[in-house]
Amino acid sequence: MSGHSIVSAPGADAAVFADRIERTRRAMREQGIDVTLLSVGLDMPYLTGYHAMPLERLTMLVLPVDGDATLVVPRLEAPRVNHLPGVFDMAPWGETEDPVALTASLVTASSSARTVAIGDTMWARFLVDLMPLLPGSTYRRAVEVLGPIRMRKDAAEIAALKAAGAAADRVAAQLHGGEIDLVGRTEAQVSADISARLLSEGHDVVNFAIVAAGENAASPHHHPGSRVIHRGEIVLCDFGGTMNGYCSDITRCVHLGPVPGDIAEAYAVLKDAEAAGVRAATVGTPCEGVDRAARDVIDAAGFGEYFIHRTGHGIGMDAHEDPYMVSGNTLPLEAGHAFSVEPGIYVAGKWGMRLEDIVVATIDGPDPMNHANHDLVVLDV
Ligand code: ZN
Ligand code: ZN
Ligand code: ZN
Repeated sequence: MSGHSIVSAPGADAAVFADRIERTRRAMREQGIDVTLLSVGLDMPYLTGYHAMPLERLTMLVLPVDGDATLVVPRLEAPRVNHLPGVFDMAPWGETEDPVALTASLVTASSSARTVAIGDTMWARFLVDLMPLLPGSTYRRAVEVLGPIRMRKDAAEIAALKAAGAAADRVAAQLHGGEIDLVGRTEAQVSADISARLLSEGHDVVNFAIVAAGENAASPHHHPGSRVIHRGEIVLCDFGGTMNGYCSDITRCVHLGPVPGDIAEAYAVLKDAEAAGVRAATVGTPCEGVDRAARDVIDAAGFGEYFIHRTGHGIGMDAHEDPYMVSGNTLPLEAGHAFSVEPGIYVAGKWGMRLEDIVVATIDGPDPMNHANHDLVVLDV
């Protein structure tokens, strides 16, 4: 499970949230949904700026297609809510009240014939209690409404992704500059070091810090452990966190001492493949086209069998979200889609390498969130 910041989303002014709610209502109207119910997870902070802790006490945004949105919230949590009058009303409930009945009364007040969209991460206990209180309702998944909206990042979100990317870039620069000791330390120690640096560069939460040396780098999601890093090895570092509600994710590799010919050759291919993937990330290109562009370069160089995963994943409030850059995903990129481009070459038992940037598709072309040196930086140790 990745950690999530409980800090409000950026641009936490009423206009941003009012606009997001209006776009959600429009999608609800188009899809014939009368009410959307959102509980723990990231859809609610996306629409309100309020990030509910995953408690046994119910927090629920009741969003009717017409009429006022209402945040049902435990009274003791209410002081944490940045209430935005005109965007949503507050319905705090006390310890002896029934928040599910309160939610049901808000739903029935808004309409009679009901199609209700339920947030994907609402706890089953609340839905099981709620359904008998809404007889005759039909249910849909709220992702059908909110997924396409959350995929298209607005200006405030792109600014937050940029800031998080720049902070991750500063840690990558420290790695490239030799400021992070590698030789003689364990992967786990380096991982902790990188995590601390992400925090001191402004991240609120570290979501992961993969450090994989030598043959361990051939495992894309290697868990850094007690293996000691030696001279003569490649070290893959893939790290990211959450800053003001939005995620960073970057991969860079360094080589400790002179680079053997086979690694240098493969890295040149990888760098070309990543650049080709980024260049392909233009509005209108299907997601699978980004994967294809990167993969073609690796295939043509004869390393195709060593590129064993999709090229990228969407990113935003979640470290992994739609859209995915994978063969079979024909969704055309739209302005505001944000995602990773991260091809890799992995030779089991020997070495591995990956190069990753976050990119936002814009009408002016691909806009990278990362600018750290893309070379296999040699650290002379
Ligand atoms: Zn991954
Ligand atoms: Zn990554
Ligand atoms: Zn990634």
